[in-house]
Amino acid sequence: MPTAGMEESIKVAVRARPVNQREKKLECDICVSMSGKTVTMLSERNPKHFTYDYTYWSVNAGEGSQNEIFEDIGNTMLSNAIDGFNCTLFAYGQTGSGKSYTMMGGQDEDDAGVIPRMIEGLFEEKDRLEKEPLQELEVRISYLEIYKEQVTDLFAALNSRHAKGESLKIMEHPKLGVYVKGLYLMPCETKKDVMGNLEYGLKMRTIASTNMNQNSSRSHAVFTIIVNRLEGERPTGKNKDERKSLQAKINLIDLAGSERTSKAQTEQERLKEGCAINQSLSQLGLVIKMLTEQASSGGLKAPMFRASKLTFLLKDSLAGNSKTCMMATISPASDNYDESISTLRFASSVK
Ligand code: ADP
Repeated sequence: MPTAGMEESIKVAVRARPVNQREKKLECDICVSMSGKTVTMLSERNPKHFTYDYTYWSVNAGEGSQNEIFEDIGNTMLSNAIDGFNCTLFAYGQTGSGKSYTMMGGQDEDDAGVIPRMIEGLFEEKDRLEKEPLQELEVRISYLEIYKEQVTDLFAALNSRHAKGESLKIMEHPKLGVYVKGLYLMPCETKKDVMGNLEYGLKMRTIASTNMNQNSSRSHAVFTIIVNRLEGERPTGKNKDERKSLQAKINLIDLAGSERTSKAQTEQERLKEGCAINQSLSQLGLVIKMLTEQASSGGLKAPMFRASKLTFLLKDSLAGNSKTCMMATISPASDNYDESISTLRFASSVK
């Protein structure tokens, strides 16, 4: 296992999106400003300041671009993963604040989010590495969704061994660590392979949520790339693969919207859903915060992770030799002041 460098293992970034049509119509003021690494929530009496590792003012076209985010965050994660460190990127924020745009991006190539850019970078690295003798970079992907504490495989229909929509168990093996039983880890050879399957998984997510009469922003989506760097002679015939292997996971997570369930939504199902989201998001915050604080004192006890599916699933990726980044997304408009400040507080609390 490689050892973590002196660098901090958790980075927090904040991104403000452009004002949308609705906010323009309402003639909302801009209630956020950014200067260097400081974000200020403006109010006449009591402006509040927060400091993070990165800030992106994407309110004006051309600023805080997708490429800048990839260069700062995605590229670093990619090289860490190739060096054998597990990496996790979360997008946290209220629905409509830019989580999916940051992770996946828009329609144009310039708008591509951090995930497609990382996939592109990964296959460039694979080509480069495999030009050298006795080197191979294996890529596998998985895509799952957590909704009301149930884990489902978005690739289930591609895997003959499991029924579609079946809820999967998260298990822990003393040597292999945490894994999802029956989750399809799909081998991919090219960038096109990965992108095609990712788009397929996204479609499955939308279909599943429409069938259940809910919105996909009420679930967590976990896209994982497993990178395995192999060195040595490829085995021939039935011989065992005895090559030196360095494996790491990159978890790219679009979290459920962080907004609190509105008081008008008293419907039983919505309340249950809201409780599951709040519980898993606050548990995530708590685990990351405690890991940061206890980095030098041997880490956390198992029950902390087991309190929610999301933290249990990510146990190996959050603790130990791993790199985590939280991307908090906010609206800059005064209409969303309360949600934005709650997102900024959450983002500050994990540091
Ligand atoms: P979320 O995933 O948090 O619900 P989305 O990513 O779907 O939010 O964003 C809501 C809308 O705002 C989308 O139409 C998206 O294209 C747009 N948007 C979000 N962030 C940006 C940004 N930084 N630049 C341009 N458009 C953005």
